[in-house]
Amino acid sequence: MAGKIVVISGFSGAGKGTVIRRLMQENDGYALSVSMTTRQPRKGETDGVQYHFVTNEAFEDLIGKDGFLEHAGYVDNYYGTPRAFVEENLAAGRDVLLEIEVQGAMQIREKFPDAIMVFVAPPSAEELKKRLFGRDTESAEKAMKRLRRAAVEVESIPEYPYLVMNTDVDACAQSLHSIISGAWTPRNPDSAHVGGEIITEASEKEAFAADFAAQLKDLLGD
Ligand code: 5GP
Repeated sequence: MAGKIVVISGFSGAGKGTVIRRLMQENDGYALSVSMTTRQPRKGETDGVQYHFVTNEAFEDLIGKDGFLEHAGYVDNYYGTPRAFVEENLAAGRDVLLEIEVQGAMQIREKFPDAIMVFVAPPSAEELKKRLFGRDTESAEKAMKRLRRAAVEVESIPEYPYLVMNTDVDACAQSLHSIISGAWTPRNPDSAHVGGEIITEASEKEAFAADFAAQLKDLLGD
């Protein structure tokens, strides 16, 4: 049986990477797509592990060869999902996780209407700012650009069927697994975990997005 595509989006600095690592540690059977990017590796990142780091030229070459399932520009760089890995793993019956931003997520939704789409969010904008500026791997200027980008991305939250809180890494990873495995449904909400609340109601997603947008506006001084 073919596996499922699982899109996990969230603001840069929201802790998605940590949650996804936990999800993979705790459960077999997931394959994580390693994206290609033109951004420079951060301290501690290794080519082929967090990303395939490539030049603009190599990236554009692969676009020309239809080698991406989706790709997008984010802040100052390209990011994309290489097609081959995803297709091979789906065919082998594995659920494939794509950690991608919102423009790419919408492209995946077009091509794979059955994809499971999740937006992972930190509990508050203040917390996001703390996490972004607390990274010693990036300049304040870059952190600021990402915070500004979050103010745009927040508008897309209602597009995602699932909004999952990342207050606690374990709880968030367990809630993600509950969604993907089908254990969680709105009628069976008990498999959501405290610190990893799952929100699917349109009005609640909209309210969260509006409140988060207002918090970001305050922080950005707009
Ligand atoms: P970062 O530079 O912080 O690693 O990633 C910046 C943003 O790009 C994050 O929101 C991340 O989820 C997203 N991203 C990473 N890989 C891909 C990809 O292959 N495609 C798209 N569209 N976004 C990606």
